[in-house]
Amino acid sequence: PQTKLPKVGTTIFTVMSQLAAEHGAINLGQGFPDFPVPQRLVDELDKAMRAGHNQYSMMTGIPALRRAIADKTERVYGVRPDENAEITVTSGATEAIFNAIHAVVREGEEVIVLDPCYDCYEPAIDLAGARAVHIPLDPVTFAPDWNQVRAAITPKTRMLMINSPHNPSGAMLGVDDMNTVADILRDTGIWLLSDEVYEHIVFDGARHESALRYPELRERAFVISSFGKTYHCTGWKVGYCIAPPALSAEFRKVHQYNVFCTFHPAQHAFAAMIDAEPEHYEQLGAFYAAKRDRFREQLLQTKLKPLPVPGGYFQLVDYSAVSDLDDVEFCRWLTIEKGVTAIPLSPFYETPPAGQRLARLCFAKNDATMDAAIERLMRL
Ligand code: PMP
Ligand code: GLN
Repeated sequence: PQTKLPKVGTTIFTVMSQLAAEHGAINLGQGFPDFPVPQRLVDELDKAMRAGHNQYSMMTGIPALRRAIADKTERVYGVRPDENAEITVTSGATEAIFNAIHAVVREGEEVIVLDPCYDCYEPAIDLAGARAVHIPLDPVTFAPDWNQVRAAITPKTRMLMINSPHNPSGAMLGVDDMNTVADILRDTGIWLLSDEVYEHIVFDGARHESALRYPELRERAFVISSFGKTYHCTGWKVGYCIAPPALSAEFRKVHQYNVFCTFHPAQHAFAAMIDAEPEHYEQLGAFYAAKRDRFREQLLQTKLKPLPVPGGYFQLVDYSAVSDLDDVEFCRWLTIEKGVTAIPLSPFYETPPAGQRLARLCFAKNDATMDAAIERLMRL
C-alpha cells in the first residue's frame, strides 16, 4: 500500500519495554514512575467516577480544570492565561503536540527541531506534509547553537520546536536562550512550540524558563505540558496546551476532530488536586533531586559515567569504558545479557553524532528498583 510514514517503525520505548519484559530486565528505559500516584488523586478519580462524570466533557476541558491550570500558571510564572480562550485540555502532551503542528503547519512547509528530539515530533510533521529541519544540539552540553537555527530559517519555516527541560539530556534553556529565540522569531510568521512537560522537575535552584514568561514568545507560542509527569501517572494521558486565543481556536479545531475531549473523570481529579495541594509543584524538584543524587552516587561506583542532569527524570551515561557497541546494540546487550534496560539516543536524531556512546536511564523509580539495577551495573 501507499503509506505516509515509510521511515517509521515501532517506537524505541515500546521496543525496549518489550525486550525488558521478555528478558525479565529491570526497566530503566521508557520514562515512567514505578511508585504510586498520590493517594488523594486516586481518591478524587474514584469520587469523580462515582459522582457520574463519565460522559463526554466539554470539548476544551472542564471549566474547573482550566481555571485550576490558569491559577497554577499565574502562581508559578506570574502570567494568567485566559481559562476560556487560551487553555485546552488534551489527551497527553502527545495529542497537544500533534494538534499544534496540524493547526498551523501546511504541506510543503518546514519545522525546525533540535536533535536529539522526542520521537513524536517528526511523524506529526510528516503527516502534515511538511518537513522537519534538524539542527543538532551540542553533543556534550546539549546546548542549542542559535546561529545554526537562524541560518536554517527559510520562507517556508512555519514553526520552531523547543523542549526544556530536555528529553533525553535534561538540559535546560536559560534566559539568554529564550531572549535569543524571541529575537530570532521577531517579525517572522514562525510559531513556537514549547514542550514543557518536565517544567516542575528542575534542580539545584534553577528556574524553568517557560515561554509564558516572555511576552514576545507567549504571543506566538503553544506551551504544552503533561500531568503524567507532574503527578506520576503517565498512563492517564492528560495534558494541556496554553496558546493565545487565535492560536487556541485553530488548535481546538484539530482537537475536536482528533479526540473531541479527554478522559472526563481525571479532569475532575486534577482540578481537585491542584486546588488542594498547590505545594506539590514546588516539592517535585526536591523529590526528584534526591533520586537523581542517590542514583548518581551509585553510578559513580560503576564503569558508566553519569552526565550532569539539570532537569527532568533521565540520567545520561557514557558507556565507552564498558563497550564499543553502538548505542542500539549496547542497550539490547545490556537488557539481554545484564538485565538492565536503557534507551539509546540515536533514535532521537536524524544524524546521530559519530561514535557517541550514550544511553538514557530513567530515575523516576523506587530506591529498591535503582538499587537492584545498580547491583547489576556494578558487574559490567
Ligand atoms: N514531550 C516529551 C519531551 C516527553 O518526554 C513526553 C513523554 N515522555 C511527551 C512529550 C508526551 O507526554 P504525554 O505522555 O503526556 O503524551
Ligand atoms: N516520554 C517517555 C520517554 O521518553 C515515553 C513515552 C512513550 O512511551 N510514548 O521515555
